[in-house]
Amino acid sequence: MRLVFIGPPGVGKGTYATAISKRYRIPHISTGDMLREEIKRGSELGVRVREYVERGELVPDDIIIELVRNRLSREDCKRGFILDGFPRTLRQAEELDKMTKLDLVLNFVAPDEVIIDRLSGRRICRKCGAIYHVKYMPPRVPGRCDRCGGELYQREDDRPEVIRRRLELYRRQFKPIIEYYRRKGILVDVDASDQAEIVVPRIVEVLKSKGLVSDQ
Ligand code: ADP
Ligand code: ZN
Repeated sequence: MRLVFIGPPGVGKGTYATAISKRYRIPHISTGDMLREEIKRGSELGVRVREYVERGELVPDDIIIELVRNRLSREDCKRGFILDGFPRTLRQAEELDKMTKLDLVLNFVAPDEVIIDRLSGRRICRKCGAIYHVKYMPPRVPGRCDRCGGELYQREDDRPEVIRRRLELYRRQFKPIIEYYRRKGILVDVDASDQAEIVVPRIVEVLKSKGLVSDQ
């Protein structure tokens, strides 16, 4: 089962990918995670991509395409994979088509207001990094971490104005890719405005309806 997951920041894509990856024992391949890993290891590739990633700019196509090509050629991808964060340009999409035949592209959608509500309520502990949500997972004492008593703060990225800008950027970047797959007839929109406990079974239903997994 060869899948691509597409969705704006805050839509829960990483959570869904992790759940589907476990359930069907196929690797979850996040190009963002792979690049951060290379940077942390200080590998030759890590050194080459570091500045792009730190500035939030796209890594050059040739580099990322080679990285994905190598990853997909590994043994654990024989039964399938979930690509997350790739493709991000039309050239990447075209090159991916030459590497493998995708079964389905899941396009996770949720109204901007839902995403802003989710991200702007997020609070992080300065000391231990624990994550809370003022509405959906509030700490016992407002502004204080349950685990360590540390101060909770809001990431700069999670402020509503910044989220709006990120969403706009996302739409602009992914529009051609979404159209590319829609035209090929392999794109399915998945409503991700509910909690993960509801969205994950929804994904399973889509995979079943496409004959990609059998009933279990
Ligand atoms: P974000 O949602 O913050 O962009 P990611 O984890 O998906 O997070 O990616 C982090 C960074 O890695 C990107 O800002 C970009 O520099 C690089 N990157 C990841 N995937 C790609 C890709 N397909 N093409 C080019 N650059 C990429
Ligand atoms: Zn803490």
